[in-house]
Amino acid sequence: MKKRCLTILVSLIAALFLFACQQEEEKSNDAQGDRQSELDVEEMSDNDTLKEEEPENDLEVDNDTDQPKGEEEPLYTINPSTWAVEPLEEGTNPQVALITIDDAPDQYALDMAHTLKALDAPAIFFVNGRFLQTEEKHHVLKEIHELGFMIGNHTSTHPNLGEISEEEQRKEIIELNDLVEEIIGERPKFFRAPFGANTDTSHAVAEEEGMVVMNWTYGYDWEPDYTNAEALADIMINTPYLSAGANLLMHDREWTNEALETIVTGLRDKGYELVDPTTLKRLD
Ligand SMILES: [Zn+2]
Repeated sequence: MKKRCLTILVSLIAALFLFACQQEEEKSNDAQGDRQSELDVEEMSDNDTLKEEEPENDLEVDNDTDQPKGEEEPLYTINPSTWAVEPLEEGTNPQVALITIDDAPDQYALDMAHTLKALDAPAIFFVNGRFLQTEEKHHVLKEIHELGFMIGNHTSTHPNLGEISEEEQRKEIIELNDLVEEIIGERPKFFRAPFGANTDTSHAVAEEEGMVVMNWTYGYDWEPDYTNAEALADIMINTPYLSAGANLLMHDREWTNEALETIVTGLRDKGYELVDPTTLKRLD
């Protein structure tokens, strides 16, 4: 009787061992080829395989690092002619897109920040002083910043800088930096001129203030055809302008807020990694 039990036990262990080996083999087969019908566990092994096979991914921003934000070595730079995001070194993933939200914090910026945060999608919020005139708005800006988003300068009152005096341009830019510093404890590192209208003065002041000037590569949410979430999400993802290093301009608007999640997932589905602005090269 004892002997029979022992035989059954040994057979059982042998069978389990064989089964485990077979599973391992299946996993590695899947990792090499068939990606159609994968289980979650197998997807994980797939990703691991991809990482090993593609060393250029090693330089990607790792959200799990312990390094404080803003102290990483820069990985990307803004091309001063095309405004696209470009890798500083070969081997850094070029298939990226940068999300920027202008004219904040008006009505939807905080909502948008929460949406992006939930999706683990980094972005720059380019703010205006005209939307930072109350205690409540100061708290909103603080919260957006504390959620981990970068705050950029988009002038105090959103004028066309080409149509005002040099002195006024200085004031528009520097007073906002003072205000932002008062609220979040640091001065903006990126500047975006209203309407993309940069001047010699705005370039000079941005440099004095240690800010990188940045326009954008495309955006649609101010055009009448794209003032609804569905049309906007569709064009943002399917425009022919979407290419490596795309610098996406969006605004603090109702339909953009509604479209944001679809836009982020759509970009990722198309193979774009969203750039963490803290990995962009700065002036200082
Ligand atoms: Zn604007």
